[in-house]
Amino acid sequence: MAGSKYAYVRNFELPDPLLPGTFMVFRLDGHSFHRFSDEHKFTKPNDTRALELMDHAAKDLMEQYPDIVLGFGESDEFSFLIRKSASLYNRRQSKIVSTLTSLFTSSYVFRWASYFPDAPLKYPPAFDGRIILYPGIREIRDYFSWRQTDTHINNLYNTVFWALVQQGGESTTQAHATLEGTVSKEKHEILFSRFNVNYNAIDARFRKGSTLVREEISEEPSVPSHENVPARLSVPGSDGPSAIRMRTRTKPRTRIVVLHCDIIKDEFWDARPDILL
Ligand code: ATP
Ligand code: ATP
Ligand code: MG
Ligand code: MG
Ligand code: MG
Ligand code: MG
Repeated sequence: MAGSKYAYVRNFELPDPLLPGTFMVFRLDGHSFHRFSDEHKFTKPNDTRALELMDHAAKDLMEQYPDIVLGFGESDEFSFLIRKSASLYNRRQSKIVSTLTSLFTSSYVFRWASYFPDAPLKYPPAFDGRIILYPGIREIRDYFSWRQTDTHINNLYNTVFWALVQQGGESTTQAHATLEGTVSKEKHEILFSRFNVNYNAIDARFRKGSTLVREEISEEPSVPSHENVPARLSVPGSDGPSAIRMRTRTKPRTRIVVLHCDIIKDEFWDARPDILL
């Protein structure tokens, strides 16, 4: 079927393929969440409900996109590693960025009320998204180290800042001034000596961010084994077809788990060599 005389405009849409065989990092960040968190009365420095909602939206994304092998979130942002062999949407950049950003955003809104039952959304939140291509493992490791270091720096600052304001009675202007030019050691010192807080004892979720990985599920151990029963026979009391599927499945089943651990040192990566394949 020949196109209409208008169809030539389609030629102005240029292809935007992402280089094959390279790691893709997809990062999204809440748009103006400084305001959004104020308007929705997030607790400071860290609102756990908001962080858990971010984790849930990230999990939804990973459930729909098996090419995402790792997620890392802090504050209003999440980074995802898409494996380098992915052929997702033929690696069309705007298709991937727009679809993933949109799904994350709609999931965030979809699940809002489960995490904030007493605080209805005042307006629709938005996220920006981008993809960065990295040539090798070194850069991927450094990328995630960069984000987790950022988590640490921001959280240490915010923890002391809000302690000065909420418990120390300082105004936000005063607290900024108090912290001006202080190094990490001095911030730990203020927390400990003035507020009796050992920074290393506060919730790992706040200090380390959220890392989402796929974990193999050991095949349902509570289900009685039918090893000696030929697959074509139906087993009374069991639903035959799914029992057969279970036995013929080739890929192990996985689930997505949320960790709050160090991802800068080798240990995390050594234990999960598949992430960087
Ligand atoms: P931009 O649109 O440029 O990203 P922004 O206002 O979102 O602007 P960010 O640098 O992304 O700025 O910072 C997000 C801000 O959202 C944080 O500084 C913090 O004030 C707030 N925020 C996000 N998540 C939480 C949370 N779980 N608890 C408390 N505050 C949060
Ligand atoms: P892609 O992800 O590539 O866009 P798609 O399934 O969304 O795939 P489109 O070409 O965008 O394909 O077509 C959208 C389809 O959604 C339509 O073909 C139609 O079947 C359905 N659809 C969208 N809006 C309506 C509507 N208002 N009423 C009925 N059907 C609709
Ligand atoms: Mg930003
Ligand atoms: Mg933001
Ligand atoms: Mg941010
Ligand atoms: Mg469509």
